[in-house]
Amino acid sequence: MGMPMGLPGAIDRPHEGPNVAALFASLSIPHHLGSPHAVQPEAIPYFGGKRMSLSPEEATERVKGFALHLGADLVGIAEINPLWVYSTRGHIMDDNWERWGSEIELSHPYAIAFAMEMSRDMVWTAPHTASVVESGLVYAKVAFVATELASFIANLGYSATANHFQHYDVLLVPMAVDAGLGEVGRLGLLMTEEFGPRVRLGCVTTDLPLIPDGPVDIGVEDFCRVCKKCADGCPSKSIPLDAPREVNGTFRWRLNAETCFEYWARIGTDCCLCMRVCPWSHPGTPPHRLIAELVVRNQVARRIFSSMDDLFYGKKPKPASPPKWASYGE
Ligand code: SF4
Ligand code: SF4
Repeated sequence: MGMPMGLPGAIDRPHEGPNVAALFASLSIPHHLGSPHAVQPEAIPYFGGKRMSLSPEEATERVKGFALHLGADLVGIAEINPLWVYSTRGHIMDDNWERWGSEIELSHPYAIAFAMEMSRDMVWTAPHTASVVESGLVYAKVAFVATELASFIANLGYSATANHFQHYDVLLVPMAVDAGLGEVGRLGLLMTEEFGPRVRLGCVTTDLPLIPDGPVDIGVEDFCRVCKKCADGCPSKSIPLDAPREVNGTFRWRLNAETCFEYWARIGTDCCLCMRVCPWSHPGTPPHRLIAELVVRNQVARRIFSSMDDLFYGKKPKPASPPKWASYGE
């Protein structure tokens, strides 16, 4: 999900102005940070391109620890599957249009994938403008973490590329799955055990030798087979109601990205309604943590809690009110 097309904030007209201003303020940050995306060690004057000698174990510990220290909430390492690398450049955010359609060549063998939590209170206002204020803010935070992490690796003497709102070489969701951050849910987003789909993703690719993590099974597919809350609530009917199927060699639910994006363009936000209603998006309070732990480990708990969510929160819960500073009228 990213910047909506169409009239920004249209759903909250005529009160959308301050929230749209906050959105664009955040989206300007990746632009300021984003060049150059690939950081080569020769460009770092302090160590003159000399490689520091680090074992993969130590490098992994330092890179993961620094990512968390910078503000990432979850971090994992994946070996890069070439299937997750875009073939040609189709996302131009710096007006450098001659690069459009050029081949993407990526020689880095590793990806450091990370997730950052989005505020539950802001996401709970979806699809109104306060939720897209949060999307923009977390895109900016992701850009900061990715850029600084890539720069850190270059200072160690290795090549690194920051992937964030301004520049993507790789598909972030399957990369995050390979790095063990979660599974893909019915709504087509990464579902984490800690925050459900209420996260934004970033990634740094590198030739620094690291120790990869592996995919995890936290019961998402089993839960989503019963729960259809996102599909029932989706205003553009973009989320499938049936079972997952094979799509381009992977077994999953396929979101209709075109109809989803058309809806964004109509309302002028990135909607996020599916993220809001998902039972996995609840805040990390002690009762919700306990339920999440049961759901991850036990199939019976998945059946019970997918129905109980409807009882507690309703089948089609309404958006919550925003904080006063992000209000948008009635
Ligand atoms: S239109 Fe549907 S799939 Fe797209 S963000 Fe909204 S709820 Fe999710
Ligand atoms: S709302 Fe239900 S079906 Fe949709 S992603 Fe969340 S758990 Fe899965």
